Amino acid sequence: MASWPSNWTTATAPAISFRTSSRPSRVKAVGDASFRGLLPLGEALERLLALADSGLVKGTECVPLAAADGRVLAEALHAVSDLPPWPNSAMDGYALAHADWVGEPMEVSQRIFAGHSPTPLKPGTCARIFTGAPVPEGADCVQMQENAQVDDDGRVHFTRPATAGLNIRPRGQECTAGERVLEAGTRLGPIELGLAATLGAAHVTVTRKPRVAVLSTGDELVAPGEPLGPGQIYNSNRTLLCSWLARTGCEVVDAGIIVDDLALTRDALARLHEVDLILTTGGVSVGEADYLGQALREGGQLSLWKLAIKPGKPLTVGQYQGTVVIGLPGNPASTLVTFALLARPYLLRLMGCTRVLPRGHRVAAGFKWPEGSRREFLRARVHEGRAELYPNQSSGVLRSAAWADGLIEVPEGQAVAEGNTVNFIPMSELLA
Ligand code: AMP
Ligand code: MG
Repeated sequence: MASWPSNWTTATAPAISFRTSSRPSRVKAVGDASFRGLLPLGEALERLLALADSGLVKGTECVPLAAADGRVLAEALHAVSDLPPWPNSAMDGYALAHADWVGEPMEVSQRIFAGHSPTPLKPGTCARIFTGAPVPEGADCVQMQENAQVDDDGRVHFTRPATAGLNIRPRGQECTAGERVLEAGTRLGPIELGLAATLGAAHVTVTRKPRVAVLSTGDELVAPGEPLGPGQIYNSNRTLLCSWLARTGCEVVDAGIIVDDLALTRDALARLHEVDLILTTGGVSVGEADYLGQALREGGQLSLWKLAIKPGKPLTVGQYQGTVVIGLPGNPASTLVTFALLARPYLLRLMGCTRVLPRGHRVAAGFKWPEGSRREFLRARVHEGRAELYPNQSSGVLRSAAWADGLIEVPEGQAVAEGNTVNFIPMSELLA
């Protein structure tokens, strides 16, 4: 099946054919959706990534490895020398020239520990050697100590023959001098940082952190810790987004809460003009108190609105006085899904990251789901290879996502029967 899910795994550039499919009749529904004014997810993403490409953050900084988690490499990292620089032992044992061993006990002529320098091996002898220690010149194999017996006179005999190269890690097995080991555009996590350290790099050059303002809209919102008045709810999106943005490698500007008011919305957007992105929640539907879209339409530029996804349909993207605004719908599960699938890839691309889309994998559905006109993202867990859904998929329920291990993607125009294979996008892919 070549629908949207398979593209998640390979997309490193915006030029991805999101709309092609080997399921001609069904997937026409994607086109139908855009006829009704709903933009297919793939197209929205394509436009967002193109927008990011046109405004990549400028500037780099050189940061110590300990501060580089989640950042994006601005310059490739090369190996300055062969690593390891010398052949070393993969085992605790005895280094020898395999041809020297003719079945007789051998004299142990030196002991070599990791971090120490051996002398050339005396012909006809072996060297006691430990894991990671350099193999002495003249030795071509290491007999593991489990295959060795030490006689009373200290000589060693081996219970098995050895071959050249046995238990030796060759020089340059990790990388050779000059080799490009990490590409520019790589997102750095613990593994990449460990690799940078392997190369001897103490610092890496990364792209500047995008500054992202988080603005919550809604008369009903109250900060956690305050008492709730009639009709009020706690602002959960702000906390969710601020911590998610920080771990995505962004600098967060918490712009607080504004009430539903057109003039205040305009003021807030104008005030935040120095950031790279204004991320808002709420106020993007078609209700009477939804002013974000109106502010963008009237005082800025609206680039996309209304997606064929569920939850998340009212997602709104535009610019206000030149600053990009992504307006996430306010329902917590909608905020989560649209941030994960659209705003996060946008931000990663803004940082110059080449792989911005989460990777999903196929699992069997342990549920059935009716056909719909929008692409759905269901909060799910995989248990013994089968996906199970949280019983309440309301976009107002954040617990569904806390319970879930990932999102199941149900393409528009497709029903799911139990046992069908579906795409599962692990939360770990979205939260990294
Ligand atoms: P809206 O997108 O403004 O129409 O809001 C849709 C729903 O999400 C409403 O039930 C809001 O009360 C709720 N909501 C909006 N913003 C937040 C927020 N920051 N935290 C929690 N719920 C919110
Ligand atoms: Mg609202």
